[in-house]
Amino acid sequence: MAAAAQTNYDLLLKGGHVIDPKNKTSARKDVAIRDGKIAEVADDIAATKAHKVVDVSSLYVTPGLVDVHVHVYAGTGMRNAYSGDLSVYPDPFTFRTGVTTVVDAGSSGWRNFPDFKDRVIDRSRTRVLAMLNIVGHGMGGGKIEQDTSDMDAQATAEQARRYPGVVVGIKTAHYSPSDWIAVDRSVEAAALANLPVMVDFGSFRPERPFQDLVLKHLRPGDIYTHAYLAMVPWLDDNGRVLPYLFEARKRGVIFDVGHGGGSFVWRHAVPAIRQGFPPDSISTDLHVGSMNAGMKDMLNVMSKFLNLGLSLDDVIARSTWNPAHEIKREDLGHLSVGAPADLAVLRLEKGNFGFVDSYGARMNGTQKLTCELTIHDGRVVWDLNGLTRQDWDKLGKYNAQGDPRWDGMLSGALRARK
Ligand SMILES: [Zn+2]
Repeated sequence: MAAAAQTNYDLLLKGGHVIDPKNKTSARKDVAIRDGKIAEVADDIAATKAHKVVDVSSLYVTPGLVDVHVHVYAGTGMRNAYSGDLSVYPDPFTFRTGVTTVVDAGSSGWRNFPDFKDRVIDRSRTRVLAMLNIVGHGMGGGKIEQDTSDMDAQATAEQARRYPGVVVGIKTAHYSPSDWIAVDRSVEAAALANLPVMVDFGSFRPERPFQDLVLKHLRPGDIYTHAYLAMVPWLDDNGRVLPYLFEARKRGVIFDVGHGGGSFVWRHAVPAIRQGFPPDSISTDLHVGSMNAGMKDMLNVMSKFLNLGLSLDDVIARSTWNPAHEIKREDLGHLSVGAPADLAVLRLEKGNFGFVDSYGARMNGTQKLTCELTIHDGRVVWDLNGLTRQDWDKLGKYNAQGDPRWDGMLSGALRARK
């Protein structure tokens, strides 16, 4: 009975190198989880205190990754639109890459957000948050996204306020005309709802210079995504990063990666990193096109920045705490005691790897992150090499393994039987 009384943790990750940038931790630590929350982080936690112990030595233990730019409004039947066929369902693509929280970046607007919520947010295990498109119908493609009569700041803000913590921003994207209506209505809606704006600048036109977007129209805390897009003016004739970018950053404008299918070129990213302009947050712009091209997944995008020269601690900060802070979800992206137990256990592989940008150009690299384990709300939802599992030949005549206290991969029927 004495031993049982000491077992007060559901899951214990032992011996890993914990990187928790919010808490300024980068050291070998044990992490204990109870009731879906981080219960203790310490140099040494006795194995006897936990129901399940996993040896994660030689691996990195980080907060669950927070990807602030994805498209997951799938299943509507809309052709050739992010509010439909161009989106993916989140669960098949998140947990396998250590991602536990995603933000759908404007696939829905105030009119179809309830459908998105019912269709995807409420049925996914991934923590799905959303930025509302300033277009009421969201990313329906074509003329729908250019219709300024459907850009209603008031209605957008009202819908956002109905779902605090779930709607975490306002998005504008793909806007072609030469005026500022889409950007300014987005800022207006965001101000009413006390949220940040995220901008995909659409067509770059001389009548509305990009410099004015980040120096005048966006507020501190607003986010420009697609930072290393080819169209963004990055360099002068001598290859120096243009001063206005540093000025915009100083004003508090956030620069997010939003890699996507067409928004990341080495010829901007390489000089930017060399000259001290890393992204504030690393995000994928996951959709059906980007995931099978140069972007691939969150860990591939993070690995690009490792090979560009950022430290692993820095890359983790820009993929966990920084994005959580940007979207005002400061309960996420860190491993403080009491925080939701969302974690990634990552392996840093050394070897010869290739990374491809949105224009199909390659950069060689020597480091690559892979995901061994993902834990969401305290339960293991991804286990690449069976780290949490016992050898089959030591189990005798075994039945289904696992325990609902720590195992998030039990099938529905098994879960019910346990
Ligand atoms: Zn996007």
